[in-house]
Amino acid sequence: MLPPIDPVRGDETLPPRTSVVIIGGGIIGTTTALFLARKGIPVVLCEKGQIGAEQSGRNWGWTRVMGRDMAEIPLGLESLRWWRQMNALVGAETGFNQCGIFYLCETRKELEEQEAWLAKAREYQVDSRVIAPADLGGLLPGLAKPFAGALFTPSDGRAEPQKAAPAIARAVQNLGGTVPTNCAVRGVETTAGRISGVVTERGAIACDTVVLAGGAWSRLFTGNMAAHGVGAINLPLLKILGSVFATAPLSGLPDASVGGGVFGFRKRADGGYTIARRNASISEITPDSFRLFTQYMPSFRTSWRELRLRLGQQFLTEWRTPRQWSLDAPSPFEAVRVLDPVPHGPILEEARRALSAAFPGFAAMRETHRWGGLMDVTPDAVPVIDHIDSVPGFYIAAGFSGHGFGIGPGAGKMVADMIAGETPAVDPTPYRFNRF
Ligand SMILES: Cc1cc2nc3c(=O)[nH]c(=O)nc-3n(C[C@H](O)[C@H](O)[C@H](O)COP(=O)(O)OP(=O)(O)OC[C@H]3O[C@@H](n4cnc5c(N)ncnc54)[C@H](O)[C@@H]3O)c2cc1C
Repeated sequence: MLPPIDPVRGDETLPPRTSVVIIGGGIIGTTTALFLARKGIPVVLCEKGQIGAEQSGRNWGWTRVMGRDMAEIPLGLESLRWWRQMNALVGAETGFNQCGIFYLCETRKELEEQEAWLAKAREYQVDSRVIAPADLGGLLPGLAKPFAGALFTPSDGRAEPQKAAPAIARAVQNLGGTVPTNCAVRGVETTAGRISGVVTERGAIACDTVVLAGGAWSRLFTGNMAAHGVGAINLPLLKILGSVFATAPLSGLPDASVGGGVFGFRKRADGGYTIARRNASISEITPDSFRLFTQYMPSFRTSWRELRLRLGQQFLTEWRTPRQWSLDAPSPFEAVRVLDPVPHGPILEEARRALSAAFPGFAAMRETHRWGGLMDVTPDAVPVIDHIDSVPGFYIAAGFSGHGFGIGPGAGKMVADMIAGETPAVDPTPYRFNRF
């Protein structure tokens, strides 16, 4: 069920010393490495499996500001600025296309909710606007179902998840960075309380700075650091399963990305579409659900309609996964090179039916692939992008809560600026770790 991700030839040899080690080769790790390498800072980007093979290669590919939490809008706008120049920065195709995104509203009440978001977001000069029902047909070819209106953001776009992180990682190599793949980081080393290196499955690397960009694995990683007496970092992250399917090329349908009712779709560069069920994700019940229950209670109260709780295999898998390990023996990261959850078929069927009713041109679609992805979600659904003061030299960039592909470039730039001692373009206050 692995989507077809562009391969990256990992570097075999590790340097004994570098300035910064980044843990995780998703969009956050690769963009952080890119911006560090562009500043001339030596960097090693360690990936336990394949670059972009977890969330960053499995997402819908939407790069949007529309509908985001106000705390994320400045970072979203900054990220779109970087997405627009990403191909030129990396000298390769990342698939960015400023195609615009529509939210179709089934009811007047839904449209009012979108208008309420727009009233607040105007402060950030977003270009979103409301579209009247009569104008929708002219903007969205193939639309057959009546809607109460839509919110449309022309500057939002899409990029290709199966191309972007790999293209960025190759650019890091071209700039002199080292990118070992199939190379798990087992843990960090400290000297007099501050970061002095990492231990990987291929040996140690001395460094002054470590960035944890490990997506769904980040909480497990910090838990073992605490067990070894390196700071008491309790990073609150739970996992949500998203499911997606891809179609063969289709014609006569929108170029823009569209979310409406229970479906969402995005045109891919190959002419096919990536399709999913909107507003329904599977929240896997795991031992951490109980450990973190009180922290997540407020968000469960507001978003329970969108979550389907499931007690299944993931509970047993995490129950059996060691939470502590020594750095000279294989770690849990080596046991699972690529997290490849089974997609949820019934949810995808709901999306398929609703989409075919709204756009009959999709009724004949031929599915080519389907896959699942586990998202790392914080209690307030806003990421942690911060230096951890209790472990000097240690940064966390995780918990992107289903939004990290779009805001990845801005987040990577923010981490690189912090490490270089420069003021980030966007205020990092909303992303502080100590808010938990
Ligand atoms: C189905 C789905 C749809 C989504 N749709 C969108 C969307 O349309 N728009 C959007 O903006 N976002 C979307 N997202 C969210 C987005 O994909 C994520 O927020 C983003 O990709 C997170 O990037 P990351 O680099 O933090 O994590 P990941 O891409 O998961 O990368 C983390 C990497 O770290 C590696 N790693 C972990 N531990 C170690 C270790 N100890 N040593 C070495 N390597 C390690 C892992 O192997 C992995 O490759 C979606 C997610 C899913 C699953």
